[in-house]
Amino acid sequence: MSQAMEYRRHRHPGLVTFQWTVEDADGEPELIAVGDCPVCTCKMTRSFGPVQPLIAKGGFLGRRQGPGTEPWTTTCRCESYHQPRPAGAHGCGALLTIAPPPSGLTGEN
Ligand SMILES: [Zn+2]
Ligand SMILES: [Zn+2]
Repeated sequence: MSQAMEYRRHRHPGLVTFQWTVEDADGEPELIAVGDCPVCTCKMTRSFGPVQPLIAKGGFLGRRQGPGTEPWTTTCRCESYHQPRPAGAHGCGALLTIAPPPSGLTGEN
């Protein structure tokens, strides 16, 4: 077993490719990105509702109506115990840019 790395808040410079799926959330498509965080190598899952939420402490990154061609940003959401971690924070502190979902993933109505 590898020891969990320390929590450190920073932006990962690369573009990360995750696996995208769509789930139905109260009639609205919800995009789910699943993949391995490139910083801590833990598996993580991040869901994006119809509107992209604020990124905590990362600034207001804008809301969007649907998946576009812009990169998607998330903090690491793995469930490993990275310390020292502020209350309410998730993962290892990495800020990741995820390649957008493939076109057509949410196109079916
Ligand atoms: Zn991580
Ligand atoms: Zn992790």
